[in-house]
Amino acid sequence: MKRILPLLFVLLLAAVPAIGAAAQDAPADELREVAEDTYAFVSGGYVSFFVVTDAGVIATDPSSQNGPERAEAYAAAIASVTEQPVRYLIYSHEHADHAIGGNVFAETATFVSHRNAVQPIADLEEPRAPVPTISFSDEMAIELGGTTVELYYAGRNHSDSSIVLLHPAQGVAFAVDFIPVDSLPFQNLPDAYPEEWIESLRWVDRNLDFDRLVIGHPPVVGSKENVAEVRAYLEDLSTAVRAAQAAGAADNSPEMVDTVRAELTADYGEWTNFDEWLPLNIEGLLAARAAEDAAAVATPTA
Ligand SMILES: [Zn+2]
Repeated sequence: MKRILPLLFVLLLAAVPAIGAAAQDAPADELREVAEDTYAFVSGGYVSFFVVTDAGVIATDPSSQNGPERAEAYAAAIASVTEQPVRYLIYSHEHADHAIGGNVFAETATFVSHRNAVQPIADLEEPRAPVPTISFSDEMAIELGGTTVELYYAGRNHSDSSIVLLHPAQGVAFAVDFIPVDSLPFQNLPDAYPEEWIESLRWVDRNLDFDRLVIGHPPVVGSKENVAEVRAYLEDLSTAVRAAQAAGAADNSPEMVDTVRAELTADYGEWTNFDEWLPLNIEGLLAARAAEDAAAVATPTA
């Protein structure tokens, strides 16, 4: 059944014009109110999610690796809708492109992540990425100004530190890079655990209740249906690769790619980056399987 997405309020920020020729073609920054007091700041190909309460703001990924500008624009976008300070900065996962830039909130914010993200963020040795001082293993709740957001770890997927932020009162979830909306997962699945990824999506589908899904890159808003769609894609990819192997295709050969492509085009051919990233997704899946096999040989179970 097709869902009708609620009307999105799109506010174009009256931002300072960007300097430099490269910025001329970039879409303007946007601040979208995706639910009451719940926003997505969209800039530079990244999405930052935040929730405004009477006692402060709960913010997420500053996504400002290339310089302070995006984080500063994010702070300005927050200040355009509230005078409240950012009290929490929640890292969606450890990857530097999303994690860097939170120093602009460091005077008022406590930094939070999954436990597995703490050391990798510390290892960045990046003053613009404050090390989390609160971390969790399975789940935690953050209550601020009468609003509660819940953080969940669904297992390893795109990384081993990816979380879901759930805003139960608004039926909105925020998750980054592991539930792409109508797009293939990124390139050759760097740092990922493809088989566990499938299980983590199954867990999210079964255990978390939400209507709207905000992700870390445009198109910004999807729905819970995207969870099952990405799971089906990864399962179908895995099955098609095994079938190609069984039919005698060498790993990553044009023959394998063609066989898998023929299998998946009907269901996923319209997804963003299908043509470009399918061979890379295959490569990443095979590399992850090889790594798992090597680990199994290195540590035989008694
Ligand atoms: Zn990532």
